[in-house]
Amino acid sequence: MAAEVLAAAGADVTVFELHRSPGRKLLLAGRSGLNLTHSEAFDDMVGRYRTMPPALRVALEYFPPAAVREWADGLGQATFVGSSGRVFPAGHRAAPLLRAWLGRLGELGVELRPRHRWTGWDGNELRFTASAGGGAESSTAEVRVAADATVIAVGGASWPSVGSAGEWTEDVRADGIAVAPLRPSNCGLRVGWTDVFLDRFEGTPVKNVSASAAGLAVRGELMVTRSGLEGGPVYALSGPLGEEAVFPAVVLLDLSPDLDEAALVARLERRRPKASQSTWLRDAGLAPVVVGLLREATGNRLPDDPLAMARLLRAAPIEVGALAPLDRAISTAGGVRFDQLDDDLMLRARPGVFVAGEMLDWDAPTGGYLLQACFATGRLAGLRAAARLGLTD
Ligand SMILES: Cc1cc2nc3c(=O)[nH]c(=O)nc-3n(C[C@H](O)[C@H](O)[C@H](O)COP(=O)(O)OP(=O)(O)OC[C@H]3O[C@@H](n4cnc5c(N)ncnc54)[C@H](O)[C@@H]3O)c2cc1C
Repeated sequence: MAAEVLAAAGADVTVFELHRSPGRKLLLAGRSGLNLTHSEAFDDMVGRYRTMPPALRVALEYFPPAAVREWADGLGQATFVGSSGRVFPAGHRAAPLLRAWLGRLGELGVELRPRHRWTGWDGNELRFTASAGGGAESSTAEVRVAADATVIAVGGASWPSVGSAGEWTEDVRADGIAVAPLRPSNCGLRVGWTDVFLDRFEGTPVKNVSASAAGLAVRGELMVTRSGLEGGPVYALSGPLGEEAVFPAVVLLDLSPDLDEAALVARLERRRPKASQSTWLRDAGLAPVVVGLLREATGNRLPDDPLAMARLLRAAPIEVGALAPLDRAISTAGGVRFDQLDDDLMLRARPGVFVAGEMLDWDAPTGGYLLQACFATGRLAGLRAAARLGLTD
């Protein structure tokens, strides 16, 4: 985004990329549909971010969701609003968007230098390790580059095979720039399921559930995995839980969010004489995985009393041992602290160097807010860098 804005303003732009090709995390995001942004009202959208430093707000105002959609449209990738209000490119694919985007950058004269790892500065020059070849033939060389303006956007530390592993934090800290520790966000939760439960329910979705912890309740669909729980509701809780950093933590699952307690009790009171607990709960319309979760929550000591069962259904306590590791998270919380930047996203300690994207210290749930903030900060950083070069106002 920054390269596009700078090149369009007339700058000579070079993009240095660690991997063999750029945009690999975007392609990965495309595998789950590429949720580009969200269609809700601007103030609601802004409210989804866990903190809102002034520079992030300026960026979102400058390049709001409507601008993201227009931009995608301009690349021949019309977008649509899904039933949840999330915005996707038609076809849900990232590859055509990335291809068209790189094509546009090429037309604007942007030079791409893949396999260059940025490793900090030597004085005012940027330092890179360039690699060539592969296997036994591989070689590396140190490269120094002087630039009139720089935008750094090396991303977070999740899925390092397609992006960064977070090594840049050391290079940046070595320069005296404060970085909030990187932590997983929008990640699964680790739960120590019993073997009996896993044998039967690994890979089973739990539909229409509300998960709550850390003062937040989020509704959606969960997935039982070997190591715990995945899915929108737990991804949304993972940021706040990671911030509290108290494990084991308890997440309460409301496994029947559409029925109030009285309605549930009325349904559970209709127990046939001599019906086993399993038959009773099945007759009450509970899915087998829901009954399994209730057993996990109680150490297989389910109550027989309808009121106690209704209360358990509305708040089944699941003990969470930890968050899933950073390298499998959808996003990274922490990063370059906003107090290190001015409101133009420029490092106070390094005039002419701007920072954008997920490497900044902001956090948001899934729903398009991650790419939205990356696009907007990239755009703003590019615009302000162009102004510094005297190319725009
Ligand atoms: C599985 C998955 C699905 C996702 N789905 C969505 C979604 O649908 N919607 C959404 O909003 N968000 C989604 N995200 C999050 C989104 O992809 C990221 O927030 C976004 O890509 C971050 O953009 P970025 O440009 O800051 O960093 P990246 O996209 O990580 O780009 C940083 C680039 O810098 C390169 N780099 C790293 N270190 C160096 C270095 N030292 N020198 C040179 N280059 C370097 C990397 O190789 C990479 O190409 C998803 C993430 C994952 C993992």
